[in-house]
Amino acid sequence: MNTDLRPSQPCPFEKVFPSQLDRNDEFYMWLAYNQAIDAWKQDEVPIGAVIALGGEVIASAHNQRDSTRDPTAHAEILALTQAARAIGDWRLNEATLYVTKEPCPMCSGATLMSRLKRVVYAVADPKMGCLGGALDLNALPHSNHRLQLTAGVLEKPCLDLVQAYFRMKRREDS
Ligand SMILES: [Zn+2]
Repeated sequence: MNTDLRPSQPCPFEKVFPSQLDRNDEFYMWLAYNQAIDAWKQDEVPIGAVIALGGEVIASAHNQRDSTRDPTAHAEILALTQAARAIGDWRLNEATLYVTKEPCPMCSGATLMSRLKRVVYAVADPKMGCLGGALDLNALPHSNHRLQLTAGVLEKPCLDLVQAYFRMKRREDS
């Protein structure tokens, strides 16, 4: 069946608006989750990212690979570029990246090269994740930068979202 003939299912998930008062890891991950929902609404694989610095969000982005036809347009890369622009420096030493899925080889590399302080992700990816899932780029023996890593924040809602998206895609393709 030619899937171009019918639009994809609307996203059945709602955005979540956490209290601004408690800016903990879950707070920022919900913002990344909301970005992932925006990705779905544009028929992109729902992965979202935000970057926080000093209690403020300095970047937020979602996967745009298909709409831009750019293989590097992953949420993390777009967010890192935004963040560097926001602070006027490619070094993001004091910043934390929140992303709904463990970064791929490209994005894991980019988190190291931008010298992020911390990476927090929701869902581990044993196939392509390169911050411990399939491989750990953060453990490169001669690297002069180490990220602080936290995994599993809001894992369930972020996993439900991406799994539902791929279930829908499989139905459309059959
Ligand atoms: Zn990536």
